[in-house]
Formats: sequence, C-alpha cells, structure tokens
Amino acid sequence: MNENITKRNELLAQKTINGLKSRNMEGYYAASKEEALKIALGLIPEGSSVTMGGGMSVHEIGLSEALKNGNYNFIDRDAYEDKRKAMLLAYDADFFLSSANAMTDDGILVNVDGNSNRVSAICQGPKKVIFIVGMNKVCSDLDAAMKRARNVAAPINAQRFGLDTPCSKTGKCFDCKSPDTICCQILITRFSRHEGRISVILVNDELGF
Ligand code: SF4
Repeated sequence: MNENITKRNELLAQKTINGLKSRNMEGYYAASKEEALKIALGLIPEGSSVTMGGGMSVHEIGLSEALKNGNYNFIDRDAYEDKRKAMLLAYDADFFLSSANAMTDDGILVNVDGNSNRVSAICQGPKKVIFIVGMNKVCSDLDAAMKRARNVAAPINAQRFGLDTPCSKTGKCFDCKSPDTICCQILITRFSRHEGRISVILVNDELGF
C-alpha cells in the first residue's frame, strides 16, 4: 500500500474508531491483512463457535481458513444441506463474522441483504459480531455510504450471484422490486445496546466490493 494512502487511512481510521466508540462499538486498525488476521484471532478464544454470513473480506484476510483449520467450532453454512438449520445455529454462535457494504467515518455501518440472515444476525443472536472492513468502504457520511452500498456493493454482488436485477445489468441501483433483489432489508447499525458485542477491524487495504 502506497505510504500516502496508508497515512490517510491511519488518520481516517482513528476518526472512525472514535465514532464507533461513541456508538458503544469497538474499533481496531490493522496496517495490513496479516495484522487484521492477528487482531481477529486475538478476539476469538479457541473453542468458540464461529459462523459467518458471506463476506469476501473475511476470506481475504485468511480468517475463515484459519478458523476452519484451528481449534474452533466453525459452523460452515455451505457444508449444511439444511440451510435453515445452519442459519438457526448461527443465531446461537459465540461469534458472527461479516464484512460491511459500507460505513461512515463516524462509525455507522450499512448492510443490504436479500435472504436477510446476515442482517438479522448482526442485529441479535450471536453473542459477538466482528466486522472486517477495508478502508475502501469508509465513506464521508450516511448518504455516501447508502450510495456505495446500492451502487457499488449491490451491483457487484448481484453480478457475482448471477441475479436478474437492473443493477447487475447496468452497474447502478434502480431501486427495484425484482424478485431477485438483494435489497430486501437495508440495515443501518448506528448504536450497539450491548457494550463489547460489536467490533470492527478496519484494514489498510482494498477488501471486498
Ligand atoms: S434495489 Fe435492486 S437495482 Fe438497486 S441495488 Fe438493490 S437489487 Fe440492485
């Protein structure tokens, strides 16, 4: 990562971490993907049950692989034929891992969801939630974060899953009511009622979409 970008990211991350703190959430800054992995593993005691709801960023820092190969009860929803069972197990997990579609530099997280298992687990259920967020997803305000979620993250994810939505064909949100829409629920996480439940690891890298 270019050293000027790193300097900018360090400064912006500090502001974002302060914003998270004011919202009863914990923030961490990782100078690299490797450091992000170390911080995440430091937050998850061995023996914990851990699951996730998608999230390229979690894969990109090597966290899902480390948990699968380590001394953890990693609930891999892809390994379950009964997806409902996997989703219900996720609600009772010690840790839920997620990336975010966007966030603001004062600590508000934005996530869109089609099935809605991810956003519902962020709201409640798992004892702790850890977000892995590349600094490319930090936006100047909520309006910019919503625009990013719906005009960058959603179209790319819709293309990735071969969904028949206007954004997958044009690269831009048309506020659709398509049966394939991945914007059934739009979650704005602006405060955590339970101190220490939500942690966000900001990574000095481009992660996810
Ligand atoms: S509302 Fe529809 S067009 Fe807009 S981002 Fe979501 S799926 Fe795409």
